[in-house]
Amino acid sequence: MIDHDVVIVGGGLAGCRAALEICRLAPDLTIALIAKTHPIRSHSVAAQGGIAATLKNVDDQDSWESHAFDTVKGSDFLADQDAVAILTQEAPDVVIDLEHLGVLFSRLEDGRIAQRPFGGHSHNRTCYAADKTGHAILHELYCNLLKYGVNFYEEWYVLRLILEDQQAKGVVLYHIETGEIAVIRARAVMFATGGYGRVFNTTSNDFASTGDGLAMTALAGLPLEDMEFVQFHPTGLYPAGVLISEAVRGEGAYLVNAVGNRFMVNYAPSRMELAPRDIVSRAITTEIRQGRGIHLDGSGGGPFVHLDLRHMGREKIMSRVPFCWEEAHRLAGVDAVVEPIPVRPTGHYSMGGIPVTTSGQVRLNQDQVVTGFFAAGETACVSVHGANRLGSNSLLECVVYGRRTGAAIAQDVRQRKFPQINYSRYVQEAQEQIQQLLDQPGTLRIAELRNQVQDCMTDHCGVFRTAELLTEGVNQLESLQQQYGNIRLDDHSKVWNSELIEALELRSLLVVATVILSSALNRQESRGAHYREDYPQRDDQRFLQHTFASYSPTGMDIRYVPVTINLFEPEERRY
Ligand SMILES: Cc1cc2nc3c(=O)[nH]c(=O)nc-3n(C[C@H](O)[C@H](O)[C@H](O)COP(=O)(O)OP(=O)(O)OC[C@H]3O[C@@H](n4cnc5c(N)ncnc54)[C@H](O)[C@@H]3O)c2cc1C
Repeated sequence: MIDHDVVIVGGGLAGCRAALEICRLAPDLTIALIAKTHPIRSHSVAAQGGIAATLKNVDDQDSWESHAFDTVKGSDFLADQDAVAILTQEAPDVVIDLEHLGVLFSRLEDGRIAQRPFGGHSHNRTCYAADKTGHAILHELYCNLLKYGVNFYEEWYVLRLILEDQQAKGVVLYHIETGEIAVIRARAVMFATGGYGRVFNTTSNDFASTGDGLAMTALAGLPLEDMEFVQFHPTGLYPAGVLISEAVRGEGAYLVNAVGNRFMVNYAPSRMELAPRDIVSRAITTEIRQGRGIHLDGSGGGPFVHLDLRHMGREKIMSRVPFCWEEAHRLAGVDAVVEPIPVRPTGHYSMGGIPVTTSGQVRLNQDQVVTGFFAAGETACVSVHGANRLGSNSLLECVVYGRRTGAAIAQDVRQRKFPQINYSRYVQEAQEQIQQLLDQPGTLRIAELRNQVQDCMTDHCGVFRTAELLTEGVNQLESLQQQYGNIRLDDHSKVWNSELIEALELRSLLVVATVILSSALNRQESRGAHYREDYPQRDDQRFLQHTFASYSPTGMDIRYVPVTINLFEPEERRY
């Protein structure tokens, strides 16, 4: 058994920022930072458009209150307003701190950090490094952690959380390179395992975004919060689904349908292309459904709309959004300087997650927390995004709440000794789990089952939902769950068995998909990204509440928990 004071699972922005804070505040603590990828290949590295903070470098009328209001309105009033106040008040400080760490932000003429407009934000407050912001931040954080001597477990797959008597005691992990199984015992465990975009068949997320941390939490018997709120980003490149950043619309690009109209005028006349993502995604989907989508030969009735940058001119495109130009060119053969880019909504972000307090401590229910267990970043739900996240607020959440969670852990571990763990029991269980997967005489390929799960979710739990569709989805998923015992692995080796990892990830997808579908079926209203055609209105009377959904193979238990409203009274959401 290996001992570390703190175990952090996840090497993206949230995990790295938490680790940095612990290093700064409590250099005597030993930290294990585990990632199934190399840390700098975490999905955070792909973040493009930027990070919001009211630095007022471009717009001196901006304020944290305005940022907070935009965030709460964007969330369709489901965000917890105490958490949003912290997010927006601490934003300038964390961004300046990143700059001091060495992050290469894009600059104004006078040398200050540049800021651009972004969807749903009423002021120009998004700081950026061209359209490679996540890359710039993650690399600097990682380099700083190397300096502090953090223990990295790169390409180790965490199999389970060790939770006994509502206390987190460590994790069981599998070394992808060698097949070795290990148990790390810790005085505090933190999950920063990112999102679950791969639950859908079209997504902007990397292959590793399979919701493992969410699934491990659910399988440990703990609830997940607001999982029905899935963000579909309006501009996924057709057909691959990779992201064309909102920065492109922030810099002035238009959305145009088959008859050449900038259709956003019919959906959000005051914000047009820079309305929040839930609204723009519904608008695009409606245009496509009503026959005003476009085919690749340019004719109408097709599966995408156009993102038109041509009026921006070559120089602006190449200096402000060069990576998006390159993506469209490389993946769709489109030169965005002279042609519009084909786009449609793509699965992008998880508003829900592991419920946490504003100190990052995992919540068991409305009043209780889980001893020694913390979470931050996309896998957590604090909840600053409520029913719909605004662009450039997620990197911010990772950094603000990563820092706060790190600070809370640095204090919390002092109160606790290393817990007792039955080490051999956990090793044996993990060995059996893996051996069973390697040995089972199935007939189904992993990719076949995974595709069916992803199609099931895309078809039944997408931008528009109904009870009928969702119920069909739940039933279909149940029979897919049963197929899991029937998958066959061709690779039986211990060394770099990527098929085995895919099988483990598929289990995560199945658990997470079940929680999303059930939470969505239960919420009989439309709010933010969750749109029920059979309940098209927001229903504050019944559903101005957070979903807490607990998983068990025999059925879901769904409860509701109050929203914190201490700044802005809910009102109708118009743009
Ligand atoms: C293409 C794209 C562009 C985006 N652009 C922006 C933007 O401009 N602005 C913005 O605010 N947000 C943006 N977002 C969202 C934002 O990037 C993410 O929400 C955020 O980076 C998530 O960071 P994280 O630290 O929570 O998780 P991630 O960066 O996803 O990291 C997860 C980590 O957990 C590890 N892990 C997971 N499961 C296991 C396991 N079983 N065992 C071991 N390790 C595990 C992974 O290896 C990884 O290191 C974008 C997202 C995408 C997909």
